[in-house]
Formats: sequence, structure tokens, C-alpha cells
Amino acid sequence: MALLDIRNLTVKIKTDEGIITIVDRISLTINAGKILALAGASGSGKSLVMQAIMMLRKDNVIYYADRFKLDETDLLKLSSHQRRRIIGENTSFVMQEPKRSLDPSLKIKAQLYEVMPKIKWYRFFTRIKNFIKNTKKQTAVALLHRSGIKDHRKIMNSYPSQLSDVECQKVMIAMAVASEPKILLLDEPIVNLEIASRFQVLKLLDKYSKNDHTAIIIISNDIASIYNFADEFAFMYAGQIVERGSRDQIFKNPRHPYTASLIRSMMALSDPGQNKKFIPVLKGKHPDYKHMPIGCRFGARCRYAKRICNKMPDITMSKNCQYRCHFPLPDGALNSDD
Ligand code: SF4
Repeated sequence: MALLDIRNLTVKIKTDEGIITIVDRISLTINAGKILALAGASGSGKSLVMQAIMMLRKDNVIYYADRFKLDETDLLKLSSHQRRRIIGENTSFVMQEPKRSLDPSLKIKAQLYEVMPKIKWYRFFTRIKNFIKNTKKQTAVALLHRSGIKDHRKIMNSYPSQLSDVECQKVMIAMAVASEPKILLLDEPIVNLEIASRFQVLKLLDKYSKNDHTAIIIISNDIASIYNFADEFAFMYAGQIVERGSRDQIFKNPRHPYTASLIRSMMALSDPGQNKKFIPVLKGKHPDYKHMPIGCRFGARCRYAKRICNKMPDITMSKNCQYRCHFPLPDGALNSDD
């Protein structure tokens, strides 16, 4: 049984020009201890999926789903208050740009103490107040150490502006795991980091996933960096998951032309002998959410498009992967010039 099981999640936004569907019936499952990467260009709806899972509700956003189960609890049968409580107890979210997510006016120490599970009764027992205070400090130090920060004194007594980007990211991860969540969601955790720092952050997350069986859903456009890190990949294009499957299946034999074009660019960029002038670039523009084509959303940019692509392709399930395309690529297509 999957730890998180979401079926046909749809996210709509109310605008002055009417209601626009951004995320269109996407389905996701993840098991404990597994890492799922959500990849795809900016604007494909990945962050909205994360926000929908966390139920971070803004007034102009509407969410629907046919199924939303977390650890066997059917959240759709609960009140919104109960739903938010269960989500809050079981999941943590690390947003983009850690420096901006941290409170600039508080030292890291205070921000760490704030996210630790509250022990409300201690204030009535003066004699154990200090004991609790010490325990809090020890827990904060242990969290920082587990998150790869050795000099905890410096970090605890610093303001976010005094820390580097990677230190802020590690602090954010320490804060996110303080409540021992079953699911950790991260939105672009390695963007703007140097290569060595990216590796440190991914290694740290991998450790949490393996040691604590935390399920991790990570958004990243940097598929070259996360290639070895995620067990499964889901590629989004224009609000839909166009392909999803195990890392080995997708990177060896992608079925969807969009996935294949991203992987080809990744391979060319990672090849030191490749002339950067000849890196394959996807031509054309991402469709406008206000005027989505009725057929395949990738159609205008797809070199394999045919008349039938004016009809929306259904999701095809095959061994180890699923894709949305009328003409899936055959095995070996990634390395052919066709
Ligand atoms: S359905 Fe047609 S247009 Fe869409 S990706 Fe497949 S081949 Fe290309």
C-alpha cells in the first residue's frame, strides 16, 4: 500500500479572465523510503502540485482529486480541518529559496526551537523547565549535525543573512525533519547551489530517505544532478504528467518525445567533448494556460506529431512506466538521430 496515493489531482486558479486549469488530473503514488523527482520546465505546474499536496490554500486556488490517501487514511472523507492536521503531522515542505524562507529577524536557534514538537505541560513544572530547555538545545544541535552542519554554535547564533546558501538549505532541511515527517517535499532545493553543495544536499536527503524511510518528493529542473538520486521520475509538461517511471526505464528508453528531448539536452550538457553550440534545444513555446490545445499539449513542438495528435492522448501504462503519447518512442530512440 502506497504511503501517499493521489488520483486525478486538478488545480484551478481564479483569474479576472475566468477560471484556468493549471494542473490537469495528475496521479502520484510514493512508498516509504522512496524518492520521486518531479521534473519539467518552469511553469509546468510542479510547484502547484506540491502546494496542493500540502494543502497550502490561497483564496484564488481550487483543488480537486478523486483520491487522496495518506498512510491509508482517506483524506477526502475528512473535514478540511482534520485533513490539514494529518498533512501537518505527516509531511514537511522545504520551499524554494531557503534564505528568503527563513525569518531574517530571528537567529537560527530561535527558528529551530519554534519548529520542534511542542511540549505544553512543562511550563507548570518549574523544576523540569531547565531540563526541557536543555533537551531542546540538544535536539537542535543533533538536528544540525544530522543535516551536515558541524559548527552548530556558529550556525545557531547566526541570522540567516550571515549564512551561505548551502548552510541555509541545510538549516531548512533540519527544520523540516524536526517533526519526523513521513513525507518530505522539496521545491528546487539545489537551485543556485554550486556543484559540490548540490551533491552535499542530495546526499543528506538520501540519508534521511534510507535511514528514516522518509518518502521524498523533489522538484528539480536539474535532471543531471538528480539523475542518480531519485528512484522514480515524473516529467510534467503544461500541467500534465507526460511520462512517469523508474529511473532506469526512463533514462534508457523514454517513451514521450518531451522526456527524450530533455534527456538529450542533459546528456549533451554533461558531455565535456560536446560543442555547446550544438546542444539540442527544444524549439517553440510552452502553450498558454488560457488557450490550451484540445489535443496533445506538446503537439506544436513535437517533431512526431500527426493528425491524430489533435486528440488528447490517454495515459498508457506499461511495465515500469506510464506515458501520454499516441506514438511512443521505441527502444533505443534516445541514441538515434531520427
Ligand atoms: S501525442 Fe503526438 S504530438 Fe503528442 S507527444 Fe506524442 S507524437 Fe508528439
